[in-house]
Amino acid sequence: RKKKLIAGNWKMNGSLAANDALLRAVLAGAGLPGCDVAVAVPAPYLAQAQALLAGSPVALAAQDVSQHAAGAFTGEVGAAMLQDFGVRYCLVGHSERRQYHGETDAAVAAKAQRALAAGITPVVCVGETLAERDAGQTAAVVRRQLAAVVHVVGHCVSEIVVAYEPVWAIGTGQTATPAQAQEVHAVLRAQLQAASAQPAGVRIVYGGSMNAANAAELLAQPDIDGGLIGGASLKAPDFLRIIAAAA
Ligand code: 13P
Repeated sequence: RKKKLIAGNWKMNGSLAANDALLRAVLAGAGLPGCDVAVAVPAPYLAQAQALLAGSPVALAAQDVSQHAAGAFTGEVGAAMLQDFGVRYCLVGHSERRQYHGETDAAVAAKAQRALAAGITPVVCVGETLAERDAGQTAAVVRRQLAAVVHVVGHCVSEIVVAYEPVWAIGTGQTATPAQAQEVHAVLRAQLQAASAQPAGVRIVYGGSMNAANAAELLAQPDIDGGLIGGASLKAPDFLRIIAAAA
């Protein structure tokens, strides 16, 4: 299996000044990390982050990509544009996009395909709501979400990253227990094994209130290959401690 991946998702946070300070502190503290590291910055800051991260071990990521190649799609950002700025990973189907922007499984799959075609690794986010968990539908929901992507990307599935982000754990401080997360990761692993000729290449990372205190225990689970970090990625010391826990 590949190295673990620790990716920060800044969501809609930051400014030129704050980003500069945060990225300089992350680069100063990360040294040569024992895992892969990425930061998903808001689109207007891609150029700034690209310049700051140039030649460093921290990869540039985007938070979303259009399902269309180019054209009359006001406000959208295309995969070729991300490629222009050296973007290596792109989140697709984050629950906030699904929830607030009506992204369907099919739209998420199309976005993953656009990213792959531009040489960008899609980080496909899946996860159940609390109501779905309580109704015993967790496995069915994440399998449906991943199946839509597998169906569209075909053999390229070995090139994606999957992020399991239970919606009830995002920004709530209520992290999934290591056992709860591992159980779902094992479901996703089995699905990938059935779909991919090279399943060992696919990393399944966990996201949802991961922090410096709980990262090591989550990352010790056999099928947790990294983390997608929201709030804690905005504080360099916390993000650095999570990176250290993944080494
Ligand atoms: P928090 O770490 O703030 O819970 O966010 C998780 C997330 O949504 C990362 O994409």
